[in-house]
Amino acid sequence: MTTVKSVKTLQLYINGEWVDAKSGEFFDVISPATGEVIYRAANGRADDAKRAIDASYSAFPKWSKISSKERAAILFRLYQLMHENLEDLAQTISNEMGKPIKQARGEVMNAAEYVLWNAEEGKRIYGTTIKGFEENKRLQVIKQPVGPVAAITPWNFPLAMVTRKISPALASGCTLVLKPAEQTPGSAAKFFELAEKAGVPKGVINLVTGSPAEIGDAFLSDKRIRKITFTGSTRVGKLLMKKATDQVKRVSMELGGHAPFIVFEDADIDQTVSSIMKSKYFNCGQTCISPNRIYVQESVKEKFLTKLKEKVESLQIGYGLEEQVDLGPVVSQAGLEKVKSHVKDAVQKGAVLISGGDEFPVQGYENGYFYLPTILADVNEEMQIANEETFGPVAAVLTFKTEDEVIEKANNSDYGLAAYCFTKDLSRSVRVSEALEYGMVGINDTVMSQVQGPFGGIKESGLGREGGPNGLADFLETKFISTII
Ligand code: NAD
Repeated sequence: MTTVKSVKTLQLYINGEWVDAKSGEFFDVISPATGEVIYRAANGRADDAKRAIDASYSAFPKWSKISSKERAAILFRLYQLMHENLEDLAQTISNEMGKPIKQARGEVMNAAEYVLWNAEEGKRIYGTTIKGFEENKRLQVIKQPVGPVAAITPWNFPLAMVTRKISPALASGCTLVLKPAEQTPGSAAKFFELAEKAGVPKGVINLVTGSPAEIGDAFLSDKRIRKITFTGSTRVGKLLMKKATDQVKRVSMELGGHAPFIVFEDADIDQTVSSIMKSKYFNCGQTCISPNRIYVQESVKEKFLTKLKEKVESLQIGYGLEEQVDLGPVVSQAGLEKVKSHVKDAVQKGAVLISGGDEFPVQGYENGYFYLPTILADVNEEMQIANEETFGPVAAVLTFKTEDEVIEKANNSDYGLAAYCFTKDLSRSVRVSEALEYGMVGINDTVMSQVQGPFGGIKESGLGREGGPNGLADFLETKFISTII
């Protein structure tokens, strides 16, 4: 931590103004590819969070009452600005968290789609009328915005996770304070600059970067904040939920996962391998829906491993901002250590290394957190990797004999976010998708973050859904009105 401004600095955005933290402190943001400080971000604390809550509370009465058409017009302008600034946003994402630029562009487009979807969806907030038992009674149900909301987001999709929360909040008439991850304040700051240009009125959205626990506690202890929407680890999610009980605050939790990926012997193995390449090694394995346990039916194990190895060894590793790169660094030294320890534990307990298994020194980027794309075969349930999120480019392959056996194994997890089933048998796909205890199931598909669909998990993977009509519903309260006429 320092009070000296020597590289580019990022500020807080409170009540329509860019300001330093009250303390004057900044924290360093490090590039995971170069290990260098890329900028310093304002280190907000409880008093800054309070200023932001004041602003969101003051802005709420007006914003909640303007017409849905006006709110939609502002969001539509924001969507256009995101497209006009696509390259700048993508470079910011890639620079601060390391993902390949091609994937960063995809993230910007996906993030913008949420803004567009919610702009439209906000015009369709329906209530209902119910027939009463008495002739002079009128029963009505209306939907109203929950109030000022606090949002906390992770670094792995630093823009999409932000728009998945801010756009439905704005469309439903809520105001909001955001605390983004400390690794990626730049993407959030760029988004706020565009939101300001799009005409989001002052105080409606506010940005506080800085000390996670202090800011989180300020959100949770303030009665004016009516809801917490969080995306991040299950560990932190549980902590926030416990604290939210004091004021019975509304919570939405998008937490960790440990996705089973089931490959039946009748699956199209080329298509299956290509889907693994797009999901397991996408974002360097740092996604909550990444396949973590790849269950392959015994009879196709060798064929599957041979094809996967060939594809994995053709991946280009390097600095994300270079166009040809497929796999960037993991986000931090701590992230790298976790990947190394999971691989070491698995190998010590009998897993077979098919490919990778080590750090990878990229020429010119020797201080980056690069790890070779890795395949481990003969993984079993005793290994850490079969139970905890690795958040790295490591495919852990297990085998199974029967459908019943693999369903039981797949469901044997505290997590319940995403699961995948690859098969050509239609009946089997229906049976398996209904039996899997997960919030989302991909049948011959791994692309789950789609604006029309409800994204989210069951069990310890969370509460609530983002996307589709459900995304807006999580920011609305239900009011019942009974009238005697
Ligand atoms: P994390 O839980 O460490 O951090 C997430 C956010 O919480 C960050 O902004 C962080 O600063 C903040 N935070 C940390 N401690 C806090 C505290 N005590 N009080 C308040 N805020 C606090 O997670 P991460 O490492 O940034 O992200 C990776 C995790 O996110 C993985 O577990 C991944 O599965 C999950 N994730 C889930 C989804 C989903 O939609 N379900 C999407 C993306 C990521």
